[in-house]
Amino acid sequence: MSASIFSDDYQSKPFWWERTPRPNLANSTLPESADVLIIGSGYTGLSAAMQTTKHGLHTVVIDEEDAGFGCSSRNGGQISTSIKPSYTELKSRYGADAALAILKEGNNALNWVESVVTDNKLDCSFRRSGRFYGAHSVRALDELKQKIDQTPEQLGHEAFLVKREDQQQEIGSDFYHGGVVHPHHASIDPARYHQGLLDCAQSSGAQVVSHCKAINIDKQTSGIKVSTSKGLITAKDVVVATSGYTKELTPWHQRRIIPIGSYIIATEPMPDEMANRLIPQQRVITDTLQLVVYYRMCPQHKRMLFGGRVSLKESNPEISAPRLRELMLMRFPELAPMKITHSWMGFVGYTFDHMPHVGKYDGIHYSMGYCGSGVSLASYFGMKVGLKVAESPDGETAIDNISFSGRPYYRGNPWFLAPSIFYYRWKDRLKAR
Ligand SMILES: Cc1cc2nc3c(=O)[nH]c(=O)nc-3n(C[C@H](O)[C@H](O)[C@H](O)COP(=O)(O)OP(=O)(O)OC[C@H]3O[C@@H](n4cnc5c(N)ncnc54)[C@H](O)[C@@H]3O)c2cc1C
Repeated sequence: MSASIFSDDYQSKPFWWERTPRPNLANSTLPESADVLIIGSGYTGLSAAMQTTKHGLHTVVIDEEDAGFGCSSRNGGQISTSIKPSYTELKSRYGADAALAILKEGNNALNWVESVVTDNKLDCSFRRSGRFYGAHSVRALDELKQKIDQTPEQLGHEAFLVKREDQQQEIGSDFYHGGVVHPHHASIDPARYHQGLLDCAQSSGAQVVSHCKAINIDKQTSGIKVSTSKGLITAKDVVVATSGYTKELTPWHQRRIIPIGSYIIATEPMPDEMANRLIPQQRVITDTLQLVVYYRMCPQHKRMLFGGRVSLKESNPEISAPRLRELMLMRFPELAPMKITHSWMGFVGYTFDHMPHVGKYDGIHYSMGYCGSGVSLASYFGMKVGLKVAESPDGETAIDNISFSGRPYYRGNPWFLAPSIFYYRWKDRLKAR
């Protein structure tokens, strides 16, 4: 049955890679030494490299796969102000001033992406599209309203309410009980953006070496020696930029990062009239149900890109596709005849406190754990960690002093999350009735 949902030209790789194939760096060689070695070539690694090279530091970025193979070329391309915990939550944890400063970093991160795109003339479909946040119940709509009311005005988080009777202006679906629009949120072609950052990093002098896996890090007085699948390199500073792909190379980080699978499907192109009716304002969309979903049209406004966390470790996109399609059809039943042309997944780096973390542990710099909001946060905190390596005072951030904690007995395998997916799916089905 599930075979018929796929188009004849179906591919289990990101739709974005059609427009932006993976960069061919196969012949890149690893030098014996560098001032800075960055492990991971996503937004974090490349944004850090753009700063270290600007400060005159010889910088090498390595990736065990193609450059940008991780989340940075396969995400949903939705950009918000990104810090997960609410003002109220942050205030109770860190106090009012710190809470405000932390949330401002979210604003800074979104503005940072816009300035990088504009200053470097990156052709990556960046657009202040706005976000529609759909409420699955009347109560959820009230909670969204409350959240807006509790957000300090100083943050300038513009938002407006959409009543159920008006929601066809935002979405061609009766699924929601209204929602909230955040007009300043944005959309981007993520792989195209990654390619732009890669070009910038390389033209600023960074060497990017693909298919080069860091295997061991050995700190010595003469420098940090990193053995890789392409040989040994010695660097004065090392940055770990592996987020959801963090493994046994850095066990301290592995004990603090929860890799959660996130999945996306793309439909075949639809008629203009239909695309304009389903998402008339071309916004990015999320909702209040517990099983996270996020969706939008592709930049050409032809295909639905529908994502969510339908599983945890399942890495076969042909198994996840029917589950995602089911969630998509709950919102847009008229998409039933549309075949799926692409289905893919990647590992989002979550943390136990739902906060991103940037810092230095045991002589090694890191920035990671963006909890599904890394388009802006990885770009921004990657830039900051690059400045920290260059010992610039501008590298300071509002999250510098936040402790990065793991949990007893957690070693990097989030077995405890599996039941939650089934529980959320069951609960959401009940709520959606
Ligand atoms: C399906 C999906 C949808 C998403 N949607 C959104 C969205 O809409 N909006 C948003 O803001 N965020 C989204 N995200 C999250 C966002 O993409 C990430 O937070 C962000 O890209 C992280 O960037 P990064 O550079 O830190 O890590 P990554 O881009 O994941 O890069 C890490 C890299 O490290 C490499 N690596 C790991 N170990 C080693 C080693 N030992 N040696 C060498 N290299 C190594 C990996 O190969 C990988 O390429 C999504 C993620 C996924 C998977």
